Amino acid sequence: ADTKLVVLIGDPVAHSVSPAMHNAAFRERQLPYTYEALRVTTDHLAAAVSSLRGANLRGANITIPHKTAVMSLLDAVDAAAQRIGAVNTIVNQNGKLTGYNTDAPGFLAALRKSGFEPEGRQAVVLGAGGAARAVVFALKDAGAEVAVINRTFSTARALAAETGTRAFETSAEGYRQALEGAVLVVNATSVGLSPEEAATPLPQEWLRPDLTVFDTVYRPRRTCLMREAEAAGCAVIGGLEMLAAQGALSFELWTGQPAPLAVMLQAAEAALV
Ligand code: NDP
Repeated sequence: ADTKLVVLIGDPVAHSVSPAMHNAAFRERQLPYTYEALRVTTDHLAAAVSSLRGANLRGANITIPHKTAVMSLLDAVDAAAQRIGAVNTIVNQNGKLTGYNTDAPGFLAALRKSGFEPEGRQAVVLGAGGAARAVVFALKDAGAEVAVINRTFSTARALAAETGTRAFETSAEGYRQALEGAVLVVNATSVGLSPEEAATPLPQEWLRPDLTVFDTVYRPRRTCLMREAEAAGCAVIGGLEMLAAQGALSFELWTGQPAPLAVMLQAAEAALV
């Protein structure tokens, strides 16, 4: 069979670990696919997406800043992605493009892989942007009770209203109320992301040893929040686990085959600079 191409569409994409991760997976499964990153600015998004209908293209990943804008350019969007309002994966089926969101189920898979079952538990999500939306919907669908905290309170309140969760401010009182009874904290803000590695989205004083702390940020691999959570005795899960898990689910959508998750995690880790 001819080699099929899968592309990553975003801006910037230069430091993405997805090409290394997916090419390692295609090699492992001996599939005739290659994965390439394409830097695409907003004014070229429509043309880039349209080109995915070509016979030699199997699909794409979509990343910052196009996850929402891409939705109107597709032939179909899966119901979960529609609710979240973001597409990170596209499959080309004979010229018909369907959009999916694998961030939400990828987050849940990474959480469960660590042994944490969210059903019936109380969780706090830091952030109310795209990643936070995926995390809140995932936790809610999995039967968790969720509190959303965001710097911009109005965005937290809107997300909470939409998902039947509660919103709190980034104040001492907000943290106190949100964290009361919580057993899981998820950072879905960009705080702690390189080069601002000394920043943390949650003041250290709120970390308790009975908390599981999941940081979706994966660059650096160990964030300030992760280090402080570890020091406080929390169970800690890093964003690379989510990256590999969402990648694995995208791989399965393109190939119809089970993804080599361990190989993907290892390749992502090795490619992370
Ligand atoms: P968005 O721009 O949509 O949202 C950013 C969020 O971070 C907002 O809630 C914003 O708050 C908050 N924020 C940003 N700067 C600050 C600050 N200085 N202080 C407090 N809050 C701040 O980005 P995304 O949701 O798309 O991505 C967020 C992060 O999630 C990414 O940086 C990435 O690290 C991670 N991610 C990880 C994935 C994985 O697979 N591991 C997948 C996708 C994302 P406000 O509303 O007030 O601006």
